[in-house]
Amino acid sequence: MTIRDASHRGMGDPSMLEKIDSLFSCGAGERINIPQIIVVGDQSSGKSSVLSGLLRKDLPRDSGLCTRFATKIVFRRATEVGVRMFIIPDDNASPEHRAQLEVFGEVKYDSLDDFDLQEIMRDVQLAIGIAGPSEDNTTKPTFSGDVLQLEISGPEEEHLSVIDVPGIFRDHTPGLTTRDDIKFVKDMVLKYMANHRSVMLTVVTANVDVATQEILQLANEADPDGHRTLGVLTKPDLVDPGAENRVIALVQGVARPMKLGWHILRNPGQLDIENHAYDRRRQEQDFFLKSPWNCLDEDSWGIESLRYRLKEVLSGLVRRSFIDVKTDVQRELDVTEQKLMALGPERKSRTAKAAFLTELATKFQQLVDSGLAANFGANRLFEEHKALKVAPAVILRMEQFRNDMLQWGNMYMFETTKDAQSSDHQTKAIGRGTKDLKVRKRANCHDGLKDLLCASDVISRRDEDKSTTEWLHQLHKDNRGFELGTFDPVILASAMKKQTTNWKVISHGFISDIITIIHSFIGTALADLCQNDRLEAELYNIVFDEAMTRYKRAFEQLKFILTVELDGTPMTQDPHFLDRLDKSHEHRYQERFHESAIDDTRYGLIVRLDEMSLKRSTSNEQHVIRDIHDILHSYYDVARTRFIDNVCKQAADFFLVNGPDTPLRVLSPVFVSRLTDDKLEQIAGEEAQVRRQREKLQKDINSLTEAMRILS
Ligand code: GDP
Ligand code: MG
Repeated sequence: MTIRDASHRGMGDPSMLEKIDSLFSCGAGERINIPQIIVVGDQSSGKSSVLSGLLRKDLPRDSGLCTRFATKIVFRRATEVGVRMFIIPDDNASPEHRAQLEVFGEVKYDSLDDFDLQEIMRDVQLAIGIAGPSEDNTTKPTFSGDVLQLEISGPEEEHLSVIDVPGIFRDHTPGLTTRDDIKFVKDMVLKYMANHRSVMLTVVTANVDVATQEILQLANEADPDGHRTLGVLTKPDLVDPGAENRVIALVQGVARPMKLGWHILRNPGQLDIENHAYDRRRQEQDFFLKSPWNCLDEDSWGIESLRYRLKEVLSGLVRRSFIDVKTDVQRELDVTEQKLMALGPERKSRTAKAAFLTELATKFQQLVDSGLAANFGANRLFEEHKALKVAPAVILRMEQFRNDMLQWGNMYMFETTKDAQSSDHQTKAIGRGTKDLKVRKRANCHDGLKDLLCASDVISRRDEDKSTTEWLHQLHKDNRGFELGTFDPVILASAMKKQTTNWKVISHGFISDIITIIHSFIGTALADLCQNDRLEAELYNIVFDEAMTRYKRAFEQLKFILTVELDGTPMTQDPHFLDRLDKSHEHRYQERFHESAIDDTRYGLIVRLDEMSLKRSTSNEQHVIRDIHDILHSYYDVARTRFIDNVCKQAADFFLVNGPDTPLRVLSPVFVSRLTDDKLEQIAGEEAQVRRQREKLQKDINSLTEAMRILS
């Protein structure tokens, strides 16, 4: 609705309308449903005439052709005058139909006076594809859910939208309308009426009985409070002489009161439209200032006072809907800000890109530090992702490695005496349980690591029942030389080699699992820090290559430790070795003299000196085998402890976890500083699309922030 009458400007609620103005000028108006006026009523009740009066522009009026689709007229205040027209397809429109409307496209004019609405309407009707006045309705539908939108902008316009909908009707006309049409139109009208941000003008002709008007009933259902329903009576000139008092009583609010009251209009009739000298204002004044209508309050008749009244109602509506609008704007603002955040900071220059990656690398390293120090309170991410709790995972896996080595490391079980068991806590745990040993405790976390890591093999219970003595006998037999009561040290080396067969697979499983732990940490941390799939993928690739090199180094170290232990000459400086050996000898003596011992009440077990003959009780060979067994046992224990420690400390801890060059330290600020320009661009550069997206989001945030300021 245009308000060109200066005396009416700003009389509704200027602050509200000014706020709407500001919302539009800051660009946020596009996202807000501005209040709209909808004109509803029966066919030919004068809806389009009322609209035309408000617009001061002729709309196609009923002359055989009633409105067959909704027309939405949107007014916008803008510095430039302009008119735009396009068709919005029905929500249920087929793709073909949408394409057809695309072809119609958008019609633009400089001003409302430049075009003939009647003519345009014919084109629109063709595009929408509904039956014309003389066409029959068997091939084309009569009504359509498409909406014709007409946008009128100019410095004089108020922000407002007006919708002219098809009139509802109760009887179908064969060849023109069907029963389905009745329901279709009614549903469409009801949908518009239900919108809480719309003011309804319920148009009823003055010469009918209002009590029977379905439209008033429907309006009452859609707006029970009645604060957005305005009654409009038309065609007072057609009221039977003598029946005027009934109409006057209605307008005065006596017959059927409405919260916002009744308004009466004298619209141009068919003849008036054809008359070039026609002056609507003059005609309405002449009409209503004559008896019996002159008893009516001036505010209740004529198009100008209706326009004024409407503006007041709209202001009230805006005020009520402002809370909603504010919530909408705030929600939009939150969503838009989150989207922008997800894109990360802008990075145009090399410095910006480097700074961005350096910050990311620093955050990554902080995460590594906290993860290794088990300082899990430092970052919320530790609660969200179990994979980041790296220290406890590594320690647990080290303990499992030690246990596996104690239980499954040796091929043959050593003979243990009761005393030896209790004195040696390491062997105490020996006993393989009933299950086979799985060398991997964790599943691979990334396909790229499959070839590097060892398979999840199983060691099954095989040789433990075989007698160790038998095995050593065989070994001795196969290797014996001309020694007298002694043995070749080579036997010890080969016995050791056989006894440690499982070490390789157990330690490979262990290192593979540690790599898995470390790699899941890297993957999880990157995914969370990057917040952008492309960036994450680029960084992952580059970190992965370097991490692979470092994983391989850990395996090389493991291989080195294994070679030293298994292929070298048995050797140790560890005093535990001799301690153990002495203990074994002690036990052998005690066992040997146990039979000749006398239990003395004062001294306990006593052996008579002459009983202690060193005469061999066993054969020479048995004696040698026993020696081999005892030495092998002592040496194996010492070597195993050394091996467990070396694998944990060197291959695992130094090369994978806490050392200075572990895979966890790949993504560091230094690493970023060494990247070439190309690499930097490849990782941190923004695609044009992201850049555009960022610009748009930033613009939206600015206008929404401005909108919040206006609304507060
Ligand atoms: P719509 O179908 O509800 O949009 O009704 P229109 O606005 O097209 O009006 C239907 C017919 O009634 C047209 O020929 C109008 O000229 C005529 N008409 C509307 N209002 C009045 C009025 O107040 N007086 C007279 N005499 N004719 C009117
Ligand atoms: Mg109409």
